[in-house]
Amino acid sequence: MKPNSKSKFIVITGGVVSGLGKGVLTASLGAMLKKNNKVVAIKCDGYLNTDPGTINPVEHGEVFVLDDGSEVDMDFGHYERLIGIRAKGSWNITMGKVYKQILDDERLGKYLGRTVQLIPHVTDEIKRRMYKIATEEAGDVVFIEIGGTVGDMENELFIEAVRQIRNEIGPARILFAHLSYLPIVEGSGEQKSKPTQASIKLLNQAGIYPEIIFCRCDRKLTTEIRKKISLHCNIEENKVISNMNVENMNLLIEHFAEQGVGAFMESRLDLERSGVKENELLYVCLASILFSRKKRIPNTLKILSDAIAEPANLEAHEKPQSLTWPLPPLRIAICGKYMKLRDSYASVREAILHASVHRMLARKSFLSPDIHYIEVSDFEKKDLAQNSCYNEAGIAEKLSGFHGVIIPSGFGSRGLGGKIQVIRYLREHKIPFLGICLGMQLGVIEFARNVCGIVKAGTTEVLSDDHALQVEDPVIHLLEEQNHVTELGGSMRLGRKRVLLKEESLAYSIYKNFGEIEQGSFVHERFRHRYEVNNAYIKKMEEAGLLFSGCTEDGSIVQLMELPSHPFFVACQYHPELLSTLEKPAPLFQAFIEASLNKAKNV
Ligand code: GLN
Repeated sequence: MKPNSKSKFIVITGGVVSGLGKGVLTASLGAMLKKNNKVVAIKCDGYLNTDPGTINPVEHGEVFVLDDGSEVDMDFGHYERLIGIRAKGSWNITMGKVYKQILDDERLGKYLGRTVQLIPHVTDEIKRRMYKIATEEAGDVVFIEIGGTVGDMENELFIEAVRQIRNEIGPARILFAHLSYLPIVEGSGEQKSKPTQASIKLLNQAGIYPEIIFCRCDRKLTTEIRKKISLHCNIEENKVISNMNVENMNLLIEHFAEQGVGAFMESRLDLERSGVKENELLYVCLASILFSRKKRIPNTLKILSDAIAEPANLEAHEKPQSLTWPLPPLRIAICGKYMKLRDSYASVREAILHASVHRMLARKSFLSPDIHYIEVSDFEKKDLAQNSCYNEAGIAEKLSGFHGVIIPSGFGSRGLGGKIQVIRYLREHKIPFLGICLGMQLGVIEFARNVCGIVKAGTTEVLSDDHALQVEDPVIHLLEEQNHVTELGGSMRLGRKRVLLKEESLAYSIYKNFGEIEQGSFVHERFRHRYEVNNAYIKKMEEAGLLFSGCTEDGSIVQLMELPSHPFFVACQYHPELLSTLEKPAPLFQAFIEASLNKAKNV
């Protein structure tokens, strides 16, 4: 059991605290190597859920969906966006999947009378999966990100597995990197290395000796702290890398490149030399201009216009490090119910940023999205879908200053009524609205209730929380294929599918503008839902002015809607944010940003 002989491995572990951005680090390192190497990224999660599909986003961040319909850790969003790869579900190795396989095999008698043990059987199963991915994908560089923090019981077996991999394939083909945290003690302002020392000791005890360490800190590392970490952690001084807080993750690539990280990975693993591509640098600089509003840099405009004219010109300028741009911000709100954790809507936020950078490039004019997260339950006096229960004055007060509002995905009945009221406000006040998945379903309900007079319109999703409820007019109901589904995990309509567009629609012209339409008026998007628009109500809504502008490949189910009488009222059953990248932002997000800019100009 060995991978193909060419795959090299880079293992990323984390220490001290969780949430330091291992996924972003892994993705940034992958981005630095992607030019000349086939990069693959594996994520190991220690929890016993088979996949994160059933975990509340407030606990674990957003659930990312891949082309193959797998529900995976949100780090795959970073991998796909920054490295530019299309991942597969098997790349997310959870302890749930590993144990399930072992227990199934044990029942089938595959262990031939042996005692099934954590070592070697669990570690063998982990390695088998990793080697299989490396071989099947013919990866030149396979990243293995181990979730959680060193010292957690949950990830010990993953750490043990990668230790064994080093022995099996030899040290030349595997590099261990660690991400740690340096606290700064208030008062003295001193960067402290002790927690990092402790976490490296734990790793060493497990038989792992990292050669490069990334230190997450508010500030750049001082020379003294580098020396100290080098001495205590047995890592060369120039491999103690500063991983500063940056305003946007795209800036990290540049930050690491400056510290020689790319060159080190290439020489250590004997990879072809690459360096960051020019256009990547351009995007990086644009992103930094865009997102570093708190800082100040002279001649930014000159840098930007030169860069737009010719990306290579950027090299001639000093890179923007500190800058203030007194831009009139574009105020965008994301209204949802998982707002306690920003990561719940990470892809939506990224898609807004991608679209903004592109708009800036295309028009050579600046724009700066100012994204606000609004918790809809703040608007609710009572739960569940009764119009009168919502604080309309509060909604108006909260939303009036926004130039565009997104209602993203969501599950269950909590917060539905508040979102419907928000959509009503957006429709009546002609504020650009982008509805995503649940956002579209609620857009349809709002229209049915308040325009078509179907006052009892609702979604049967509320029944999943309370079977005693009644939905008299189920304008949103369960997909036929979902009627017999009993398991929650992995049972939604999931993955990349074709959407058929109506040629006379705004959506069609948006996708066409960005060259995304395939022959036969199709586009491809990723899905994750259980409920759908009920065909029985479509005619009535269309007569009242709503345009259902897209549907499933076979024409049977509505997937997209828009309101032609509104400046921008577009909502889709799919998740355009999941396929958006800096290079290729999602068309609907680009159009939404454009519409929001128009709104900003006109207020
Ligand atoms: N809860 C809705 C459904 O299952 C919407 C899902 C979503 O927003 N991703 O159809």
